[in-house]
Amino acid sequence: MASPRVIAIQFDGLRADALSEQSTPNLLAAAERGAWFRNHHSTFPTSTRVCVSSLATGVYPEKHGLPGNSLFSRELGETITTGRHENLLAWERAMGGCLLLRDTFFERVGGGAIISAASSGSAWLWNAGRAARLIHPVAAYPAEERETIEEVREIPAGGEPDLDRCAWVLDLALDYVIPKLEPAVLVIHLSEPDSTQHQEGAAGAVHRQALEGVDRLFGAFWQKFQSERDDWSQTNLLLFSDHGVVATAGMIDLEAELADLPGRGDSWQVAHSEGAALFYAESEKTLLELVAFLQTKDWAGPLFSKDGEGIEGALPGTMSLGLAGCGGARAPDLLMGFQWGDGFLRGENREGALPGWGYSSVNNKGSGGTHGSCSPYELRNFLIGAGPAFPAGARVNAPTGNIDLAPTILSLMGKETCGLDGEALTSVSRGRGEERVYRVDSKGFAQTLSRAEVDGRFYLNFARLEKA
Ligand SMILES: [Zn+2]
Repeated sequence: MASPRVIAIQFDGLRADALSEQSTPNLLAAAERGAWFRNHHSTFPTSTRVCVSSLATGVYPEKHGLPGNSLFSRELGETITTGRHENLLAWERAMGGCLLLRDTFFERVGGGAIISAASSGSAWLWNAGRAARLIHPVAAYPAEERETIEEVREIPAGGEPDLDRCAWVLDLALDYVIPKLEPAVLVIHLSEPDSTQHQEGAAGAVHRQALEGVDRLFGAFWQKFQSERDDWSQTNLLLFSDHGVVATAGMIDLEAELADLPGRGDSWQVAHSEGAALFYAESEKTLLELVAFLQTKDWAGPLFSKDGEGIEGALPGTMSLGLAGCGGARAPDLLMGFQWGDGFLRGENREGALPGWGYSSVNNKGSGGTHGSCSPYELRNFLIGAGPAFPAGARVNAPTGNIDLAPTILSLMGKETCGLDGEALTSVSRGRGEERVYRVDSKGFAQTLSRAEVDGRFYLNFARLEKA
């Protein structure tokens, strides 16, 4: 009865700069035992399901085909939220298969298991190719798995902070999944601190409780795993977040704001991805009207459209979607990251607060914090690798990101990593790369986009819109 070769634990929304001796001592202890990737990057839009799809496939959204937390499906003729797995199933059926356009690492490995305390949609996307067992309160795969897990351990209600559910998935891993299913690769998705951050932002007593709580639960899990498993030292632990978070500067009702632009639902559509918005329109005239309107709004940030000349998008005044890894067959016609800024909001609760703010669409789950846009506060996340493949005490300053998780797991499992955007992190002697800044100017608007580029790969640092 062998332990998993890889246990990958997702701490949803945990910012790299939120790790501290005070709040996350167990994560820092793991970093001491292993390699800490200090220059780690999310994917844009920095929304959970987009990020999970990149984590599972090792490619940017333009290749995996999941462009936002919500999207407009031309096949269904409607906007759907990808937070519910039933919607993903309906979308998949309408497209004739292929929920994601690339295999997940579970398909290449030929099995594995996922336990998730997050939304059913994000749980389902980890297992888009149905190669692994999926354990989630409502979206188990195969479906019979749900009855088994209810017998093993009663499913707790979600809470604030959502620590009971986080404890439930970790206990279930130790009591059932590891000993009974014996997966070679196990992914555990914890809903905190993201769940609390949506309500409270990344500040204050409840946020600290969520951060400390999830770290404590991880520490107890790891200790128990070591005490129960003789071969524990063969397991590689990957501890990571999918994206960061910013304080919400304002909740924008896009439909109401755009009420004067005729034809919504007919000639144009909008899908919300919290800190990003995806626009779809057949006519270039409508898209140009949308661009012109958005450029007048303080809450609107960088704009991207289908590839035009060089780094510019086909719509004047926008950048190319491809520059941010967001193009491809399923891309929206126009993608907007909400405006963001450095420092703190006026009147913000600053107790333990982290800098950075941004606007959000009204479909955000709370009013405290948001993510989805292209600020460095959302694009910087964390990764720690501990176990036989990672030298103790290594500090890696080379750029790395979400796209590197799948190739790293494949490499640890002795599988090929060809055709992926990312690279295996099992060799920590990586090039440091260089920062390249791209700029598009148009009629009083300057858009800049910064990427870390290394050995043909890129990682997005930020994209910013400045108005003259
Ligand atoms: Zn997330």
